[in-house]
Amino acid sequence: MEQGFDVEEIRRDFPILQTKTRNGKPLVYLDSAATSQKPVQVIGKIEEYYRNYNANIHRGLYEISVRSTDEYTGSKEKVARLINGGSYRNIIYCRNTTEAINLVALSWADQNISQDDIVLTTQMEHHSNIVPWQMLAKKKKARVEYAGLSKPNLSIDMEDYKEKLEHGPKLVAFSHVSNVLGTINDAKEMARLAHKHGAVVLVDGAQAVPHMKVDMKDIGADFYAFSSHKMLGPAGIGVLYGKEPLLEGTDPVIGGGDMIRSVRFDSCTWNELPWKFEAGTPNIEGGIGLGAAVDYIEKVGIERIRRHEIAMTKYALSGFEEMEGVEIYGERLEKVNESNKAGVISFNIKGVHPHDVASIFDSEGVAIRAGHHCAMPLVTQVIGEPAVARMSFYLYNTESDVDKAAEAVAKVKRMLKRG
Ligand code: PLP
Repeated sequence: MEQGFDVEEIRRDFPILQTKTRNGKPLVYLDSAATSQKPVQVIGKIEEYYRNYNANIHRGLYEISVRSTDEYTGSKEKVARLINGGSYRNIIYCRNTTEAINLVALSWADQNISQDDIVLTTQMEHHSNIVPWQMLAKKKKARVEYAGLSKPNLSIDMEDYKEKLEHGPKLVAFSHVSNVLGTINDAKEMARLAHKHGAVVLVDGAQAVPHMKVDMKDIGADFYAFSSHKMLGPAGIGVLYGKEPLLEGTDPVIGGGDMIRSVRFDSCTWNELPWKFEAGTPNIEGGIGLGAAVDYIEKVGIERIRRHEIAMTKYALSGFEEMEGVEIYGERLEKVNESNKAGVISFNIKGVHPHDVASIFDSEGVAIRAGHHCAMPLVTQVIGEPAVARMSFYLYNTESDVDKAAEAVAKVKRMLKRG
């Protein structure tokens, strides 16, 4: 076990992990890549806000409004510190990773990309890092290109990436960690190469920030997007980090209250960063809850979380790779190391549809996800399957959770396997 990391103590902070499923099985939650569970510290913080200082931010000169404003802005300072991303001025709150990426597509990209320009992304992306660029390309008569993946481990083919960079993309957008394969991409090197070719870089960090040390100064991305709900925080709040000169040079896309400095009948001027991108009353409880989630992650220690998850991943791979008829996608155990694999394992059981796999897991109280995982091009066109089953780990998972998943595989085989 990771030194100074007491998983049983951590589990006690998560009320849902003490619950049982409808057929009386203890809940085994292996779907944190979809959304994470929430500790009492986050749930309690949201309740504290509503009970004690619920008031709109930036409006009142009275005590509880000043408090809610301080807590909301303070949460941005915490987020900025967690990712070494400057200050609250670099942190724009939106609904989720999807909205953060779309915000860049609708603002910076819309204002800077024109006909025949290229947006370069990769074949391992979530739909939220494909569809906005396809929409933009259609509107601007621009083009989306995709860096391919190398087989068999399905990591980004760096030769192909470099070759596509030679086409001179204006924007390069890639995920830091794949939500299907768990592959950790070398975001720093990819950003360095893209910058060398004069591109602006956006990184989808939805599966990275919750699980590993992510450092904006080190990676050097211009934009970086992630979601609160995947990192122990509430849903409905996400983060777009941006470098100040880019944010300063970009016009907002949603107009209204709070995003302006002054308004006259014939004109208006924008508010300072980050508020010019946050029109209207924001998700105040979400921001404050996210701040509490960052506190929790920092209390446990992100490096400890990462080491726990890699141990869990290796343990699971060592069992699953030996199972007859189980195919695993992504890096194999012998090549897994600290820097190339996150706690996400996708697999299929030969002859069984992954939806049936997930249903049988569910009958054992084991929650996994099956489908295309919002990465349909990767799953259907690269992996070549209609769907895959996926288990994903977080700081509260144990080896016993993995054992229950392994027992569920045995049950699937007993019940459904043909041939
Ligand atoms: N990008 C990746 C890699 C993801 O895993 C996800 C969600 O699963 C998203 C983007 C979208 O996140 P959200 O649904 O919070 O916008």
